[in-house]
Amino acid sequence: MTDALTAENLTKKYGRRTALSECTLSVPAGRVVGLVGPNGAGKSTLLQLACGLLDPTKGRIEVLGAAPVSGTQQVGFVAQDTPVYGALTVAEHLRLGAHLNPSWDAGFAERRIAQVGLDLAQKAGKLSGGQRAQLALAVAAAKRPELLLLDEPVAALDPLARRAFLQGLMELTAERGISVIMSSHLVADLERVCDYLIVLVASRVRVAGEVDELLAAHHRLVGPRRDLADLGAGRSVVEQSHTDVQSTLVVRSTAPIDDPTWQVDRLNLEDIVLAYLGGDAGLVPEQALEGRR
Ligand code: ADP
Repeated sequence: MTDALTAENLTKKYGRRTALSECTLSVPAGRVVGLVGPNGAGKSTLLQLACGLLDPTKGRIEVLGAAPVSGTQQVGFVAQDTPVYGALTVAEHLRLGAHLNPSWDAGFAERRIAQVGLDLAQKAGKLSGGQRAQLALAVAAAKRPELLLLDEPVAALDPLARRAFLQGLMELTAERGISVIMSSHLVADLERVCDYLIVLVASRVRVAGEVDELLAAHHRLVGPRRDLADLGAGRSVVEQSHTDVQSTLVVRSTAPIDDPTWQVDRLNLEDIVLAYLGGDAGLVPEQALEGRR
């Protein structure tokens, strides 16, 4: 199956500022992908490269097996601030969508608008933030894209509207089987809906993978303070902290941790992301120790 997105050494600079650096990724199709990282990490830049609104400075990106072309029907993009036309009614948005898009699925659009409880006669400018987000999502999905790119779709919404939007997104992916890549600076937004995660920090991919595999491979280790070189092959330290007597590590490990002097705990997705945001991500144990000396 063709990947939803592949990138090889993908780099984007604005003048001298690097927004995305040496990004290498391979995201399978059919996933709901969470693209998470702090503000300024490069999430919007990656999404805009993926929908062809930006060109790479260096490296290569493919979307659904081809170089991105802006405005194609296969890729839907909902930019930040859920762009809708304030002076047009909900019904007029649907008519405009039908007029502009040969692949428009009118039946789906109407069902979706009814499902999320929007009034066809209401002007988009008078909708709440959550309702505008639902309208933008319905319009993007009615174009029948194979891949939907959503840039911080829930950033401006209150917790109830966030939940309603994410619920809507899950229904939509289940019904249509489309791939979704959705950015957020809050992992809590993504935890319930994503089955694939990309963590971007300071323009670099710190970790990417299937959520189930990430959950299975990461552990918190607490034990007497020790030399981290003892950890062994196939294990890398993501984050560490030490007192005089105790070491606490977040470790990525392909093999079970069988040293009984460690207390080993599972981590949830938020713990894992926070470790990558704050830790010595990507360092092998020896290098991690070097950094502490
Ligand atoms: P995110 O979506 O994760 O908040 P962005 O991709 O918007 O991050 O930005 C990544 C970096 O690129 C930031 O340092 C930002 O200031 C910079 N940047 C983004 N867009 C532009 C632009 N049009 N011109 C100059 N710098 C930009």
